[in-house]
Amino acid sequence: MRWWSFLFPIHPNCWFCNQSKVQTFLSSSWSNICEDCLGLLSPIQNPTCHVCFRSLADDSGICCDCLMVAIEDRVQNVSAVAYTSKAKKVISRFKYLGDERYAKYIGAMMRDVVEVHYRGIPFSVITSVPLHHKRLTERGFNQSQLLAEQIGKSIGIPTLNLLERNKPSPPQASLGRADRIRSLQNSFQISEEAQQLDLRPHTILLVDDVYTTGSTIRECAKTLRSAGAKTIYSTTFAR
Ligand SMILES: [Zn+2]
Ligand SMILES: [Zn+2]
Repeated sequence: MRWWSFLFPIHPNCWFCNQSKVQTFLSSSWSNICEDCLGLLSPIQNPTCHVCFRSLADDSGICCDCLMVAIEDRVQNVSAVAYTSKAKKVISRFKYLGDERYAKYIGAMMRDVVEVHYRGIPFSVITSVPLHHKRLTERGFNQSQLLAEQIGKSIGIPTLNLLERNKPSPPQASLGRADRIRSLQNSFQISEEAQQLDLRPHTILLVDDVYTTGSTIRECAKTLRSAGAKTIYSTTFAR
């Protein structure tokens, strides 16, 4: 290291646009993001729905969508950022261009939100929303699994693939809410690996990249519950 680097420490470049103006005064992983990206990639504003983490206009507790879901089917969720066009770009860069650095960056932002909002919850297993094997072969990796592994590594909890997808996911944009919920029914099953496990004592953290209607998360949780799991929470990057 050269002597002047002690006087003028060089900060790493912004995670999401590579410019050098990172906001080092911020705490947590947000300190790796430049001012421009901070304007486009925002944390979810308080108050939020106590179930799905949607930003609410007032502190009324639970949003109207979650009120329509039976209590036993609800899954508490926390997410790192609002689903803005910048968040969409970050996700597609990660998913479709296979930029694996993003797993580390996005995973760190999700870990921060998990540590703050799920403090004290004794997670024992982290798992992810699975891809259908066809999609997995096309893409070469499951983005949610990579995020789950990052979070697991940084908080010291094992990551397991508890679920398998037995139906390819329909293109999200082509379906309305009701059709999407219907098309997801019975899409998941317990993986071979997990069939040997007793899920009853586990507190599970389920990881996905984006939370849209919550139907994917709820369908995965339903499958895990049918195998005996009792305590399931979720986290996604965007919401
Ligand atoms: Zn930036
Ligand atoms: Zn809600």
